[in-house]
Amino acid sequence: MALLSEKCKWIPQVQIKSQKYATACPSIDIYNYHPYSGGGRIILALLLETGRIEPSEELREIVYKCTECGSCAVSCKFLNTLEPLEIIMKLREKLVELGGGPMPKQQEYIEAANKVNNPYNEPHEKRLAWLPKDIRLDPDAKVLYFVGCTSSYRRQEMAIAAARILKAAGIPFNILQDEEFCCGSPILRTGDVKTFKKFLNKNLDVIESKGIDTVIFSCAGCYDTFKVDYPLYREYTFRVLHTVEFFDELLDTGKLKLIKEIPITVTYHDPCHLGRNAERYKDWDGDIVNLMPLVSINIPPKPKRTGSNGIYEPPRNILKKIPGLKFVEMERIKEYAYCCGAGAGVKSAFPEFALQTAKIRIEEAEDTGADTLVSACPFCSTNLQDGIEESGANLKYYDISELILMSLGLEPEKLKEITKEVV
Ligand code: SF4
Repeated sequence: MALLSEKCKWIPQVQIKSQKYATACPSIDIYNYHPYSGGGRIILALLLETGRIEPSEELREIVYKCTECGSCAVSCKFLNTLEPLEIIMKLREKLVELGGGPMPKQQEYIEAANKVNNPYNEPHEKRLAWLPKDIRLDPDAKVLYFVGCTSSYRRQEMAIAAARILKAAGIPFNILQDEEFCCGSPILRTGDVKTFKKFLNKNLDVIESKGIDTVIFSCAGCYDTFKVDYPLYREYTFRVLHTVEFFDELLDTGKLKLIKEIPITVTYHDPCHLGRNAERYKDWDGDIVNLMPLVSINIPPKPKRTGSNGIYEPPRNILKKIPGLKFVEMERIKEYAYCCGAGAGVKSAFPEFALQTAKIRIEEAEDTGADTLVSACPFCSTNLQDGIEESGANLKYYDISELILMSLGLEPEKLKEITKEVV
């Protein structure tokens, strides 16, 4: 039992390369008290479900000081069939139902999304303000670039880079413009499933009305939400790809050619929503058999979501194809990657926790000897850049699309000062 309750705190033993980078969970690393771990939150869920504890300020704070990174789930499922991440999400859903969640800052951004379709409270009609004049949209295109709120309003350099790469490859594409709404990810992660479903339906109604074949995302959060969470509530038929998958295909088919040398040493951070959490649930049509109160078994056993089917090779393939670039790995990678610290509304509700987590990841990146840190998510981008700034690390940060752009011989956009906060 002691071993079981510890497993969620460490990456699986066979994956550990050093004591310094052996841990899995930012929450327990920083708060160092069992309720802040995956195992601790399972116990809290059980206590709340059975009415042995009531919603309280203390409970809310513990439950929401978790980035829902899923690392505890991967470690736990290495040896058994518990689903810690799903239980943590249900715990938040229950707290919201009982009026004990979410955090006030998260409630603010949910209200903003309800009002103006994005959690940043930015004018909906300015969603496309980032689009450069040289980019032509094709209303009949079968490929749709779903930009997402964070790239539309906070990390526009990522949206510009994605659009310019599509243009360079000659891919006709469209953007939903004022018909694009928040994907709902930052809302779902707080446990407000009712509001989340509203956004899911708005987006799917629009996309399905346009005869789209493929939707691509440069935001790992939007991608994971469409790919993994939407089908749990409503099926759709179009293909969803992250831009790293799409661009890797374009490189393989010769539509994109990386020609310019970029003589830097790069390490890559796997975003949780592109890595372990981007693995779809497998269909399961079995029976849940109750053995005794709160103890049940699945017959036949439910397939485990282990994180090993996340998107790991496409970003690495891309980096390895950039001439002159040297690629080095951190110790915790792929499904065992350490979280950047920004997920599940933590950046807005607990910015200090987010920053402390980012600094741990930055140190791991620095220890590789790399001079540049790269990732593929606007939330990771913001929080890791904050971590670099705060720790004074000697690292540059790029989104992977910016490196592709540079290696195509094009310059990434030099943006005027933009608001940095993300939800
Ligand atoms: S989801 Fe991540 S932060 Fe939350 S308990 Fe699990 S490992 Fe810790």
